[in-house]
Amino acid sequence: MPQSSPTTETPFHEMSTAAPDLDALRDAFEDVARDVTGSDDPARRAEAVRRWDALRGSVSTWAAMAHLHFNQDTTDERWRREREEVDAFMPRYTDLELRVKRALLESPHRDDFRERFGAGHAFDLWECDRAAFAPDIQDDLVAEQKLVASYIEAVGGARIPFEDGTAGLSTLVGAQGGPDRARREAAARALWGWFDTERPKLDGLFDELVTLRARMARTLGHDSFVDVGYARKRRVDYDRRDVEGFRKEVLERVVPLCEELVARQAEALGVDKVMSWDEKVHRPQGAPAPRGDAGWMTARAAEMFDALHPGLSDFFRLMVRNGLLDLETRDGKAFGGFCTWFPDYGVPFVFANFNGTPGDARVFTHEIGHAFQRYSSRDNALLDYVGCTSESAEIHSMSLEFLCWPEMERFFGDDADDFRRQHLAEQLTFLPYGVAVDHFQHLVYENPDASPADRHALWKELEATYAPWRDYGDLTHPAQGGYWQYQRHVYAYPFYYIDYTLAATCALQFWSRARTDRKGAWDSYVELCARGGSLPFRKLVESAGLRSPFEAGCLAQVVEDARGVLGV
Ligand SMILES: [Zn+2]
Repeated sequence: MPQSSPTTETPFHEMSTAAPDLDALRDAFEDVARDVTGSDDPARRAEAVRRWDALRGSVSTWAAMAHLHFNQDTTDERWRREREEVDAFMPRYTDLELRVKRALLESPHRDDFRERFGAGHAFDLWECDRAAFAPDIQDDLVAEQKLVASYIEAVGGARIPFEDGTAGLSTLVGAQGGPDRARREAAARALWGWFDTERPKLDGLFDELVTLRARMARTLGHDSFVDVGYARKRRVDYDRRDVEGFRKEVLERVVPLCEELVARQAEALGVDKVMSWDEKVHRPQGAPAPRGDAGWMTARAAEMFDALHPGLSDFFRLMVRNGLLDLETRDGKAFGGFCTWFPDYGVPFVFANFNGTPGDARVFTHEIGHAFQRYSSRDNALLDYVGCTSESAEIHSMSLEFLCWPEMERFFGDDADDFRRQHLAEQLTFLPYGVAVDHFQHLVYENPDASPADRHALWKELEATYAPWRDYGDLTHPAQGGYWQYQRHVYAYPFYYIDYTLAATCALQFWSRARTDRKGAWDSYVELCARGGSLPFRKLVESAGLRSPFEAGCLAQVVEDARGVLGV
């Protein structure tokens, strides 16, 4: 069948990709490396960079498609094999890609690339990639992925006795958002009972991960894995001292507000004290739920974007028209939700599992924020500038959640106000938790020889600092400092967590601005999306007229506005 050339209007079912040939890529990348350093012809050098970017785009389209197919049906052997092929391919491919980055970094024509591609920022990103990888650590990287997979399998595969049958972790977490307090407590008891039993295994896996990561850091010539973590996250314009200052800001400004919010929550729920299993519930009747299924919600979302912004409306209709959303829960479909991106076609794809909770509306407001950003910046000069580092990427998603506030009636009817208040309160209480996770990881990797018991004691201390209201009652595992073992990022994505809190600080500023200047907030949001990853984090934040999270007092206005809205 003749394949029409890819466009943003290609329907999903007509998209196809072929597995790349590593040897052919090696030859093609060697040609690129030769041209970017050796050629005297600027046009030829520029063409080489474009050729390289197109090849990278195709590899990334193939990997994204394989990942998506597998998630859409984890029972299909064909997709499982394809995913394994991607996993085996990637470390070798990273090595090839880095050879071109190195050639560009060392090229005598750096100034020329800087001008033509605005590559100054890309050079900084590639320096990070160089600091995070060397062929000597390839085996350790594979071993790291295996340990992470063991953790994900152990936690994802847990079948825990609950009520009349067994439940997975997501069901037990979901049950803690329900209106029945005794059921919430029973769910928490079942969940943490499982962690208590599995503690030796989970401690062992983490201990191996910390040791392995410390070894990789040494091989790469760094003092500790903290440096590797920052390089992996491609942090080019802030360091750990800035992050430390931000954590302090949250501790001083947000923690006291959260304590008041939790006290208010106890009153609303009519309980003496908010226990850990009450924290997700803000009103006696439970969280507001959207009033229809996936089809109904997609139609409401289209109306919402029509009302909010013409660009977003056209974009969302393109996604619906071309089948770029997979929202319904099905047997065999993987858990969770994400937005992925196909560079060859210039379009994103949103994957989710609707379950009748407020989280379903969030798929439209959060994941579509990621999707819209990728689409808006698809023509940026380098592939590195289409995607963003994650602290920047989460600004697009978290801010859209707030910018969509005026339209929430479409999903929640007269519960919309309760939805908005809960969203705001949860976003604020998330900040101390997020910085606690980050603080924990710094201390863990600065002291790789600490014992598992030391790590639990450390978490307990940090939780008392950042969440002084938290009370686990007699639930042994979390009461003794084990909550972090539930947080997948601690095992799988080191140093990722602060990114959510940095982005949330920016998203809350968009929320605050939209209250008085809706048009101005929308204009700078849309412009920020189009900039994609073409600038480092602080510059992107500045370009949108937001205060940097690393500036003292950055949360002052937000906290004041939130107090007004939430009445504390
Ligand atoms: Zn996100």
